[in-house]
Amino acid sequence: MNALTDAGAARRHRLTPEQVPDIVTEQLDADEKAALTARIRELLKAQNATLVAHYYTSPELQEVADATGGYVSDSLDMARFGTECSASTLIVAGVRFMGETAKILNPEKRVLMPDLGAECSLDLGCPPDEFAAFCDQHPDREVVVYANTSAAVKARADWMATSGIALDLVKHLHAEGKKILWAPDRHLGAWVQRETGADILLWDGSCVVHEAFKADGIARLKAEHPDALVLVHPESPAEVVALADFVGSTTGIIKAARELPAQKFIVATDNGIFHKMREAAPEKTFIEAPTGGKGATCVSCAHCPWMAMNGLRSLVGVLERGDNEIFVDPALRERAVQPIQRLLDFARSRRTVVLGNNDA
Ligand code: SF4
Repeated sequence: MNALTDAGAARRHRLTPEQVPDIVTEQLDADEKAALTARIRELLKAQNATLVAHYYTSPELQEVADATGGYVSDSLDMARFGTECSASTLIVAGVRFMGETAKILNPEKRVLMPDLGAECSLDLGCPPDEFAAFCDQHPDREVVVYANTSAAVKARADWMATSGIALDLVKHLHAEGKKILWAPDRHLGAWVQRETGADILLWDGSCVVHEAFKADGIARLKAEHPDALVLVHPESPAEVVALADFVGSTTGIIKAARELPAQKFIVATDNGIFHKMREAAPEKTFIEAPTGGKGATCVSCAHCPWMAMNGLRSLVGVLERGDNEIFVDPALRERAVQPIQRLLDFARSRRTVVLGNNDA
């Protein structure tokens, strides 16, 4: 496997703890929650708007999305839902690249986000100019980028991939004799490389949430709960993935919790997913995988600080003001939509359910 080896670049592409915001979780009492929910319902209806929320957002937001005819899923499936629903405004509760993807696929719709400061460490760690220069240095490689990238990075790519279809796509490209340049998540790319044997040159970004899971902590937890199965998202480090009974996307992890014959699971992904896992398998027990090891501290503590910026109060605010709109330059959109569309066509040709089978 090849990888970017320049130490300066590695520092720039992975955020330091100081660059990661604190996790601020919205605290609401029952009365305020009820009042905000009623107001959101009223505003969504008045504006012909639909709320689409990511699995990693708060249970309160996910409940409101479900209760108002909206949708809770992974990033690409959120965008796909946006193309199918009749609403003229999409409220995307997630992080910025999700709003951009929704806008790229739905250019005629207004796309708003509760908090435009909701970023993603993978997106932040892949600056478009630097990425374009990296691609230019390797013109012999097929450029495959993860969904967690900006419109500008997607515009430079041949393909977009999601964790649900990455193995299928890379196997296909490998069989065609193609060499691959993969960005931005080095752990996901390394997992794909191990599973497919393809020649992959990795960008060296990472997700601050998944990179923090610790194999020794999970092994200790597994010893305490020998009947538990370990479910891991492939943005996690290789030594964590090696302990997994199941490795897969967020949608895949929820499905595994429902279908695997165990009653107990140790889960290495953002703990926002527990809400849908408990809905899918209410009789089962879910244990958060440790992030810092015994006595250590953690940066993300198994929850994305940017996802946590989405709340019911900020949702009401954006609906009342109509600000925080996502715009994608039409010329950029024309290029960025191509790798996304190519992925959708590939999935269709494979009869793979890529939608609803995706990422962080
Ligand atoms: S959990 Fe990781 S990959 Fe997902 S939005 Fe947060 S930083 Fe990005």
